Amino acid sequence: MGLGALTPLPGSPQVAYRAGSLALDGCDVADLAARFGTPLYAYSRTAMLAALSAYQQALEGRDHLICYAVKANSSLAVLQTFARAGCGFDIVSSGELERVLAAGAEPSKVVFSGVGKTRAEMRQALAVGVMCFNVESEAELDALSAVAVQSGHTARISLRVNPDVDPKTHPYISTGLKGNKFGIGHERAVAVYAHAASLPGLEVVGIDCHIGSQITDIAPYLDAVDRVLDLVEAVEASGARLHHLDLGGGLGITYTDEQPPSAADLIGALLQRIDARGHGHRRLMFEPGRSLVGNAGLLVTEVLYLKPAHDAGGKNFCIVDAAMNDLMRPAMYEAWMGIVPCRLRADPPVTCDVVGPVCESGDWLGRDRALAVQPGDHLAVLSAGAYGMSMASNYNTRGRAAEVMVSGDQVWLIRERETPADLFRHEHLLPAQS
Ligand SMILES: *Cc1c(COP(=O)(O)O)cnc(C)c1O
Repeated sequence: MGLGALTPLPGSPQVAYRAGSLALDGCDVADLAARFGTPLYAYSRTAMLAALSAYQQALEGRDHLICYAVKANSSLAVLQTFARAGCGFDIVSSGELERVLAAGAEPSKVVFSGVGKTRAEMRQALAVGVMCFNVESEAELDALSAVAVQSGHTARISLRVNPDVDPKTHPYISTGLKGNKFGIGHERAVAVYAHAASLPGLEVVGIDCHIGSQITDIAPYLDAVDRVLDLVEAVEASGARLHHLDLGGGLGITYTDEQPPSAADLIGALLQRIDARGHGHRRLMFEPGRSLVGNAGLLVTEVLYLKPAHDAGGKNFCIVDAAMNDLMRPAMYEAWMGIVPCRLRADPPVTCDVVGPVCESGDWLGRDRALAVQPGDHLAVLSAGAYGMSMASNYNTRGRAAEVMVSGDQVWLIRERETPADLFRHEHLLPAQS
């Protein structure tokens, strides 16, 4: 990190030092912090659109649909950015359905995933006309059939199959192995498709899988697609027709030194396998979440206090105003996220733990980081665009952070900081004489 040159950081060309100051796209990050306050999420629209475009270009000339997995970052302006660029959406709740509609999505580009869809959610999604339900169990299939018949709609469905491959990622975000709650077992799939074909109100249109998240290898995807294609062949041998293959999301990003394949390389390898097996005519769908937004976002925080090792039993602490409620990934998955100063100082760095104000020892953002900072400085947590704001909570009655979207030197406030009044707006005191 030189003090003079433009020095890009891992993950995104839109995040770089310019003359010792951190920039996001064309904006100075410390200036954003001064203008909007902290904690602050800041996203580069340029970086999000570039990530989407890598998928779109890799699939050009093919019948395809990219459905952004909304749970990675469900802020309306993020959804709007993708909707305007022609993207579809993968949702897991009626809340997410309402969000994508409010952001301008076409229902015909929405797929509904998730192991626990309620009947009310099914009814709403049918009325709106979503493109497809990704069904995860036989019991759900029966419920969806009943709801469709009652409401006079036909539900287009795909079965989420569990290909039983190991994506070699964190166990909490591995979803395609036997023994986890997702999908229909590989060996049951042909029978469940036959059952689906016998039920009223359903139209079988595809097959899908999603094997995990933060995957940094192509090999598990190739194993999964092979197993899915085996099933497609077996299901079609019994007379059904599967128009689309949905291969889910899960492509990893660079937090530190991971080297995930590019979307182009991943899709290139998958297309080669799909074509080689004679399935190239099918519509292809993907559900990327993290890889579209992760590297496009920062969490900006202010250093409140430095607590040197002699005060705190042998460790230096850098106490900041962002906490586990703003960014759960370190506390929840022990995730490593880059933390850098918004303005470089020439002082020698000190090794410290970067921690928030929440009353939990799990409230840390980074451990043993070498940082040259003083109280009042700003730090940026890198690659915080995915599973950051969307997992934020109000623990400790902390309002959720504000969010801005930037593009070049333009800045838009896309979410206001929550106030304490916002947080208890729906609560009631007991009556006076109770
Ligand atoms: C979470 C999820 C995704 C997106 O995963 P990423 O790792 O963020 O790409 C896609 N599909 C389904 C069904 C999911 O649950």
